[in-house]
Amino acid sequence: MAVSEKIYCAFCRLERRVYTKKNVSWTNVVLAFGCALVLTFVFWGGVDPRAILIFVFLLASADVFIRIRWRMALTCPHCGFDPLLYKRDPDETVKRVKARLDEVRRSEQYLFQAHNPLSRLPAIHAEEKGALHQDSNQPSASAPQSPEA
Ligand SMILES: [Zn+2]
Repeated sequence: MAVSEKIYCAFCRLERRVYTKKNVSWTNVVLAFGCALVLTFVFWGGVDPRAILIFVFLLASADVFIRIRWRMALTCPHCGFDPLLYKRDPDETVKRVKARLDEVRRSEQYLFQAHNPLSRLPAIHAEEKGALHQDSNQPSASAPQSPEA
């Protein structure tokens, strides 16, 4: 089972990598157990009940690390779109993506790069812009759908 995979951002349509692994696997459990045994032999020179504490600590740290890694990779590094936040709070997502795109527009180094999030966004014409401003209290109309996890 692959730990990560390449997907396309639901908003800017650029390719990026996300982690598919959300929780510890049996491999992590076995590794944590092995590390705990080795550390017990190094510190106390034999089997010791404190190995259980080390094992639990290692497994908890691995779980926290895997969860944080999964969550941080979910936000698009190019346009700042966060599918999980979009499900919970679309307005906040729109605000963050707008801020990120403004930042990209201001910095000229993105202009000729392959990962320019502005390059794949559809152009908005003047009459559409007017229509967008009329129902601007519905930001989800222009916001993208979240990708399948
Ligand atoms: Zn994106």
